[in-house]
Amino acid sequence: MQCSFCHETAIYYRAYSGKYFCIKCFKESIEEKVIKTISKYSMLNYGEKILLMVSGGKDSIAMLRILSKITKPHASEIVVATIDEGISEYREDALEIVKNVCNELDIPHYIFKFKDLFGYTIDEISNLKRGISACSICGIFRRRAMDLIAQKLNIKIVATAHNLDDIIQTFLINLLNNDLKRLKWNLPVHYETSIFPQRRIKPLSEIYEEELALYSFLNNERFQKMACPYMHEGIRSQIREILNKLEKEHPGIKYSLFHSAIGISKSITFPKKERKKCKICGIPSFSEKCSLCTILHELNEIKNNQVKI
Ligand SMILES: [Zn+2]
Ligand SMILES: [Zn+2]
Repeated sequence: MQCSFCHETAIYYRAYSGKYFCIKCFKESIEEKVIKTISKYSMLNYGEKILLMVSGGKDSIAMLRILSKITKPHASEIVVATIDEGISEYREDALEIVKNVCNELDIPHYIFKFKDLFGYTIDEISNLKRGISACSICGIFRRRAMDLIAQKLNIKIVATAHNLDDIIQTFLINLLNNDLKRLKWNLPVHYETSIFPQRRIKPLSEIYEEELALYSFLNNERFQKMACPYMHEGIRSQIREILNKLEKEHPGIKYSLFHSAIGISKSITFPKKERKKCKICGIPSFSEKCSLCTILHELNEIKNNQVKI
């Protein structure tokens, strides 16, 4: 089959648009889509400095490659940060991969450890608190870490590599959990104000996971393939399966759901509730102690009791 845009042989059929792509045209289509997404949601202004959160997985490495390429004409400076959660035999490999790509692209790379930021590694937490989901604690730590990293590096735009599949899966999970307050975090652009005012952007918002995987494959990219040993996907993998099945039978259905998710998440409002300040760290919180400080307090208690025994 021939590429719908040039005379080369096609290697990919994009079912939802009915177009065939050769390698070159496919890669360009992904890069153009990211450019369009950035402009559609007003993610970046000329010359703005961006902090990319790069874990070393395929999506974040693709984001780093694409953004380093497309932001050049906009004189945007890129800085990369990787969070080291302290998970042995897992994170080391990924750190090496990110370091190599940053060296190649001549982009500054910073590593921030949970241990330094919060006093605990995820390995230590899972040993202290057996039976608890390390993922939920990791999520709370990660969100706070991103705030702290942006503050330390003094960068007001923070990009993460969430793709379209991530966004619609999270949307459905939030609906199923009746967790409507989180819907706004899932938008392509979200303003975070609690510790350090930032614009959180998701430049890969409109790209299917499958196409990002193909993009990385065609670039012969090295990325971390191993899943986190603590990963407990639960309902997410079931939702992923259902959505992939639906997309196969009805190409473009994921896009429709994506647009519904954006519309609903944007329009939903909550009555203004008076927020207090966390009595330990001082961030705005609905309770006396924020979720991070609550967990740290609990961990310290367990640790102190262990020492006594
Ligand atoms: Zn072509
Ligand atoms: Zn706190």
